[in-house]
Amino acid sequence: MHVKTILNRVQRHPSFVYERVRLVEGDVLRLEVEVRARTNSRPCCSGCGRPGPGYDTLPPRRFEFVPFWGIAVFLVYAMRRVDCPSCSVRVERVPWATGKHTLTDTYLWFLAGWARRLSWKEVAEVFRTSWDKVFAAVEMAVEWGRAHQDLSGIRSIGVDEIAWQRSHRYATVVYQIDEHCRRLLWVGPERKAKTLLAFFRWLGAERSAALTFICSDMWKPYLKVIAKKASQAVHVLDRFHIMAHFSKAIDKVRSEETRELKAKGYEPVLKNTRWLLLKRPENLTETQEPRLAELVRYNLRSVRAYLLKEDFQFFWDYVSPHWAGQFLDRWCTRTMRSRLEPMKKVARMLRRHRPLLLNWFRAKKAISGGAVEGFNNKAKLTLRKSYGFRSYRVLELSLYHSLGALPEPHVTHRFC
Ligand SMILES: [Zn+2]
Repeated sequence: MHVKTILNRVQRHPSFVYERVRLVEGDVLRLEVEVRARTNSRPCCSGCGRPGPGYDTLPPRRFEFVPFWGIAVFLVYAMRRVDCPSCSVRVERVPWATGKHTLTDTYLWFLAGWARRLSWKEVAEVFRTSWDKVFAAVEMAVEWGRAHQDLSGIRSIGVDEIAWQRSHRYATVVYQIDEHCRRLLWVGPERKAKTLLAFFRWLGAERSAALTFICSDMWKPYLKVIAKKASQAVHVLDRFHIMAHFSKAIDKVRSEETRELKAKGYEPVLKNTRWLLLKRPENLTETQEPRLAELVRYNLRSVRAYLLKEDFQFFWDYVSPHWAGQFLDRWCTRTMRSRLEPMKKVARMLRRHRPLLLNWFRAKKAISGGAVEGFNNKAKLTLRKSYGFRSYRVLELSLYHSLGALPEPHVTHRFC
């Protein structure tokens, strides 16, 4: 069997013919497949796509194809130039590669597919290519996918922020959290009002007006923009974001108290208790459980903060916004008397956002509760997998690539 036969089976281009195949020894073993245009076929202009009269032929160029049995594969083709009536002299358009890429489209999609399963560095290593080429592959896949994605039927969205570059910088992410479709819709730099405004501009006025539910954090710039751009939607402060504020408050109480106890020379009872106080009781391990029980015996500020948080969890079980509101008010009053400044800060914040908070009960059945939290975890995982982003562009691309559920072109043969 000829290599040509296989190539014609997996990747056929009607106006072109695979010719001689050579095995070339070098630094890396490679297979070079000569490609020739069919006799009498006219080249297509890369500017407008229309066929035109040939002008001249350039020296042969190599286009990297999917490797085969550990052998690098190149298509070798001498590109023609077209004397196009509308674009003047242009290089021809070839069906296996786009623009100035030296990698064939098939190989780019192949690398991009693997970059969803492995880190970019690993993909480059496994396929003996460079990180930059993997980057180019993901960039191509994301751009194609974003240009071809279906944005109809978006009703519920969640707005979230993620920290990157060791938490010194932020990006805003917007997810679609409808029951029928959950995906990352949009990423923008920073977490300013203008960031979220850019999202609404991208979404368009019509689709923004069709939104029914929006989940977000209490971050002021977000609240402002959402009120302005999608006032018809029920704006929900969701559980995940609220509870994240509790965790921060407990952390603060705990670290202050630890320092204080240490300064006064007490035994370090709070050592390694961070997760005891942040986890839900049902998630504690067998060794953590008795430790928590022991800790609760001390009348520590950290423990009181923890108990206030655990008490607040009942809030989410309410069905009626009315009774949930009553519970919220009582909890806030009690917390304001607690003399735990970080917790009082949470209480004040909850009071300020009471109506939006109670919207949770109006939206409860319509939006999937843990969706934003789930995406937040996946986004963090993506960040970790890419070990510290060199640039915002890399962050953006890897998030779209792994969480965007972006479409891919239909192909007859899948290479991986
Ligand atoms: Zn043209």
